[in-house]
Amino acid sequence: MGQKRKEVMCMNRVWNLSAGPATLPLEVLEQIQVNFLDYEGTGMSVIEMSHRSSSFQSIIDEAELLLRELLDIPEDYAVLFMQGGATLQFSALPLNLSHGNNLGYIVSGSWGDKAYKEAKKLNNKTLLLGSSKNIQYTALPTYDADRIPSCDYVHITSNNTIEGTEYFNYPECGDTPLVADMSSDFLSQPVDVTKFGLIYAGVQKNLGPAGISIVIVKKQLIREDLVGVPTYLDYATHANNQSMYNTPNTFAIYASMLVLRWLKKNGGLQAIHEKNKEKAQLLYDYIDHSSFYHNPVKVSERSLMNIPFTIGDKELEAKFIKEAKDSGFENIKGHRSVGGMRASLYNAFPKEGVLALIRFMNQFEEENQS
Ligand SMILES: *Cc1c(COP(=O)(O)O)cnc(C)c1O
Repeated sequence: MGQKRKEVMCMNRVWNLSAGPATLPLEVLEQIQVNFLDYEGTGMSVIEMSHRSSSFQSIIDEAELLLRELLDIPEDYAVLFMQGGATLQFSALPLNLSHGNNLGYIVSGSWGDKAYKEAKKLNNKTLLLGSSKNIQYTALPTYDADRIPSCDYVHITSNNTIEGTEYFNYPECGDTPLVADMSSDFLSQPVDVTKFGLIYAGVQKNLGPAGISIVIVKKQLIREDLVGVPTYLDYATHANNQSMYNTPNTFAIYASMLVLRWLKKNGGLQAIHEKNKEKAQLLYDYIDHSSFYHNPVKVSERSLMNIPFTIGDKELEAKFIKEAKDSGFENIKGHRSVGGMRASLYNAFPKEGVLALIRFMNQFEEENQS
């Protein structure tokens, strides 16, 4: 029997501003560590046990229950744990939800563009309803609302991880199901699930380790009569087998379940939303009051999760990234398509880290302004 160590060997934890995989709550990591060799007296690690065991069944059941509770998911929606990340959902959506009509895409960033292109590859009735590519995705696009009724679904990306915009009001789609890639703002705020036909998210941004995506789908959109769709990509496969048609990513489900417990214990989605707003506001206010740093995004559509900023001088930006790293801020380099820096302030990134970042930015500005 492995002896449980309560104390945790530590530790030079950095301020991890990664866009994903991303920082997780320290107390969750400690719980994983303490239980890793012997999960609750089973004498084995959670990564060694059968996914058909009662121990794992209770983990996945609790994960689904907590998700339903936190997001207030109605009974007529299924919750699926799948693999392949958000990217595999780009393919699953057109294969499952097309009834021969148009498939509408509102493209607000690079991820939405990938989703659109994948749908186009699989279905020649894929329609671009709007795009803000011409302004480098620095604001959400306008879109052709008149064509929404001709669509089997309308796809949006709720938070644009790379460019730093976020939907605070979702498009009105009437009877057409709205589908959202929520990978990078999943569980960061309360969401009215009934507004959506389907929500999906890779969990490695805001919920857990890489390796699963969660799909929340209105049951009536799941088809039992699909022909020619690969078994794994058919939502019915997962819905009819409680996400255990094949071996699921047991560890990622376990770790996500612990983060869901952490979210609930800390007051749920309204409470985390308040914290997220406060953290983002601190950084935006600082950037806006500085003439040294810039954020290019339309103010009313700025993401609470991913905050890109620039200095406007490539050499200074490289110096910033290097000195930030030396001062304990990791992964602050912006996406290669946008350049500059990006601070990802997901649920588990604490306010103290934001305050420390602002102190560092302020010092860097003083030392480097011309
Ligand atoms: C990260 C990300 C993806 C890709 O996720 P994978 O799990 O790596 O496939 C898709 N959409 C958005 C909005 C993302 O942030």
